[in-house]
Amino acid sequence: MGQSVIVTGMVLNTMPISEYDKRITILTKEKGKITAFARGARRPNSQLLAATNPFSFGEFELFEGKSSYNVSKATIHNYFRDLALDVDAAYLGFYFLEFADYFCQENNDEKEMLKLLYQSLRALEKETISNELVRAVFELKAMTINGEGPSVFSCMHCHSTENLDYFSVWRGGIFCPECKHGQKTRKIHESTRYAMQYVISSKIEKLYTFQLSDEVLQEFKKIMKDYLHTYVKHSFKSLQIIDELVLK
Ligand SMILES: [Zn+2]
Repeated sequence: MGQSVIVTGMVLNTMPISEYDKRITILTKEKGKITAFARGARRPNSQLLAATNPFSFGEFELFEGKSSYNVSKATIHNYFRDLALDVDAAYLGFYFLEFADYFCQENNDEKEMLKLLYQSLRALEKETISNELVRAVFELKAMTINGEGPSVFSCMHCHSTENLDYFSVWRGGIFCPECKHGQKTRKIHESTRYAMQYVISSKIEKLYTFQLSDEVLQEFKKIMKDYLHTYVKHSFKSLQIIDELVLK
């Protein structure tokens, strides 16, 4: 018999195994990203049936087996069921889970990513903030947590903090008018830069407390799209579905 541990976390994905079991990936506060087996979790009367679905957030009791964890019990605090009311929000939610799955590792401190996931899914459930803004904020903060965020507080070349009006995706940061020469840059709206600075420096709990004009939001989205295209060499399955939904 292995040792029992209780972890707090969120189910990132679920895979059916044999007739009644599941293999799940959980992003935990204590152990980073882990894989665990949930025996009998696909039986209709199983206590683990809903608890082992994607988005389920709560406490999981695990037994450490020889080569893997086994889930014995779960106490779920939030299933994020309201996500299912809005198809766009639901797919973005799956994208956030996939993003976290891609970036997080076992036995790594992933507390910030877990917190970001939780707050971002809550923001998707709210009507007050647009899904597009939640996505751009999530992407920027996730890249920042991962140590790959852009540098937007001073000129990449001379470190001046004034007239930072040019952004280079390729260089991963911002430039003043004097230093932009010879760099492939785009003009960046002051409000877009402020928004990016705010997202990078603010606490996760305070991330989803602002709105942007449509023009600024479109620029922020475009910058994040190009930025991820340049720095994340991975194609997310959920994004392909989102792109298809948009094209329809
Ligand atoms: Zn400069």
